[in-house]
Amino acid sequence: MGVRQVTTLDCILVVNSGSSSLKLSLFAISTAQCLLSGAVDWPGHSGGGILRLEGQSLSGRLSKTDISDHGAALEFALSALLEQSQVDSGSTVAVRAIGHRVVHGGTLLQESLLIDERVQTEIGRLSSLAPLHNPAALAAIVAAKTQLPEASHVAVFDTSYFSRLPPPSFLYPLPYEWYTEWGIRRYGFHGISHSYCAQRTAALLSRPLQDLRLVICHLGHGCSGTAVHGGEPVATTMGFTPTDGMMMGTRSGSLDPGILPFVQQQHSVPANSLQDTLNLRSGLLGISGISSDLRQLESAAHQGDERAKLAIEMFADRVRASIGSLAVAMGGVDALVLTAGIGENSSTMRAAICERLNCLGLHLDSDRNASRSADCDIATAQSPSRILVIKTREDLMIARETARVLKFPFLFE
Ligand code: AMP
Repeated sequence: MGVRQVTTLDCILVVNSGSSSLKLSLFAISTAQCLLSGAVDWPGHSGGGILRLEGQSLSGRLSKTDISDHGAALEFALSALLEQSQVDSGSTVAVRAIGHRVVHGGTLLQESLLIDERVQTEIGRLSSLAPLHNPAALAAIVAAKTQLPEASHVAVFDTSYFSRLPPPSFLYPLPYEWYTEWGIRRYGFHGISHSYCAQRTAALLSRPLQDLRLVICHLGHGCSGTAVHGGEPVATTMGFTPTDGMMMGTRSGSLDPGILPFVQQQHSVPANSLQDTLNLRSGLLGISGISSDLRQLESAAHQGDERAKLAIEMFADRVRASIGSLAVAMGGVDALVLTAGIGENSSTMRAAICERLNCLGLHLDSDRNASRSADCDIATAQSPSRILVIKTREDLMIARETARVLKFPFLFE
């Protein structure tokens, strides 16, 4: 009887960390296929974590009682992911590289990079600009380097895409020295998602990206819009921090700046509490008083809750206003793209947003909107411009970038 040959499957692991969540995706380098992905959540004080695994042949849930940080979450998720992928593929899985999503790269880290001491220190230093995100990414990087010391670790930044914004678009009308001396400018975020959607739109429309004027709306827990003209981002709604721009799940988006000193001086709201209010207690949650999750608000609104209705109406209004301003920045729009949790899943919100967009040549087909499948056109056949729903693939984009930095032959569509 012959000896069974055990092959090695070289992989890229993508790590995407939130404040108390961690998502992992494992990609085979030779095929660029996502073998398996997992998400661990460890909400608050229980110390317990839940891992959800999803793969071509598997979907399951595992619980663990002692998870309280990114290190424990990574160890738990990684061993489950490797074990399952080994069973699925019949090969020994070797993680050659890890691609880490990092939200803020500031002015020094403007493209995807191998993570050395300097890069790691700078990611930590930028925590003051992205307090909800960079510390979580840094904790995951430290944990992954401990777990996988032989692998190459690459940082892929949400801000990189917007380092190409033109100066009138990235500057705030403040004293110019605030930019030159303090780095106060629009950085823009969700760049990994926006750049994926721009490329995917061109492929879906079978047109060169360079010929298109796109408005891309990433509507998830965080929300942002970007105008892409001639293949480059020319305007975006998130700014110096990810709090700027559209109304979000728990973030306020843009405000009259006069409100902040007023509540500080007249109502003695301290700066750190102000920061928490704008980031964690505003947006859909702040207005509804119910939840930051649109699913819960849609159900409350259905039962007649007035503040849930108000929050939904305000959200749609603000997204629409951003679409108008982004479209005008390009002198028109060839396609509007809706993506992320809300954009991909809520046909009601898509309909509310598109309600008054006929003036931009965007005509929604209500049947297509209601019955849409992934990555499709929901505009009417006669609509002068297209409306696309695209499933964003930040994990795939991070894997591609990691492969590009390391010069791995990673084939993708
Ligand atoms: P994301 O950050 O992309 O995971 O998006 C998260 C948000 O998407 C959640 O807060 C929900 O409000 C929203 N969402 C996800 N699925 C649905 C759905 N089926 N209907 C309405 N909203 C949804």
